[in-house]
Amino acid sequence: MSLSLPGGAKMAVAIGSDFDAHSAWMGAFGRTSPSYLSRGEFGAEVGVPRLLELFRRFDIKTTFFTPGHSMVTFPERMEQILADGHEVASHGCYHESIPTLSPERERELMEIQLQQYAKIVGGRPRGYRSPAWDFSEITMSLLEEYGFEWDSSLMGREYEPYHPRPVELHYESANIFGPPTPILEFPVSWYLDDFPAQEPVAGINAGLGDHDLLFRRWRDIFDYAYENCPGAVYALTIHPQCSGRSIHMKVLEKLITHMQSFEGVYFGGMSSIYDCWTDDEDTTAG
Ligand SMILES: [Zn+2]
Repeated sequence: MSLSLPGGAKMAVAIGSDFDAHSAWMGAFGRTSPSYLSRGEFGAEVGVPRLLELFRRFDIKTTFFTPGHSMVTFPERMEQILADGHEVASHGCYHESIPTLSPERERELMEIQLQQYAKIVGGRPRGYRSPAWDFSEITMSLLEEYGFEWDSSLMGREYEPYHPRPVELHYESANIFGPPTPILEFPVSWYLDDFPAQEPVAGINAGLGDHDLLFRRWRDIFDYAYENCPGAVYALTIHPQCSGRSIHMKVLEKLITHMQSFEGVYFGGMSSIYDCWTDDEDTTAG
């Protein structure tokens, strides 16, 4: 398995903006008061434009993982994201909690989000990120069935794309791995996510973390990949309603400046990195 990046770059940086807006509060946290919804509105009205300006200034393309609900609630923002040449990938219908859904309901919400994508973005998404990075037993097979090429929700590697395998559970003997999916996984990490560290959610998440610590954490994870892991994909997950805050915009500026000071670092949307990936012949044979 290998990554042949443009210009012979040695690693890739994939910044993923999870444009959850209202939907995270509605679907993930069940908080629909005007106050929580206003935080989602901040993401759409302030966070996204700030991030777009930042990406323009540093001349980088990214992926906006967007629930169908955000697409239809803030269509003008989607127009701006697309006008700037960023990729839009699927991120659920209304940030539903995937493991709590029946198979029928999971399929129904997949259909709805694809219809919303076709209406607002056009065509079909190549990639998927599950809301809150959680899967049900059928999620991967649904992604295969609906023609997705890649996913970015799982954590079986740190930097290297891979093909996840289903796990058959046994408690008194070894678990058994099934055959790898043809879908390419770009692994994520809670350490490379702004939300748990920085965003307060009463009773769930302390947030309000030290932004200097956040910068050092993200910088050190990048430095390790650059020094030790040729072919790494550094998948940073940010949320416009969190990283769009001024204090975090400064962290992002410093981080991108740091990463761009190295030779051979490719910045791009995940589908552009997918297009640089070649599987070994035996990858999907186990
Ligand atoms: Zn999300």
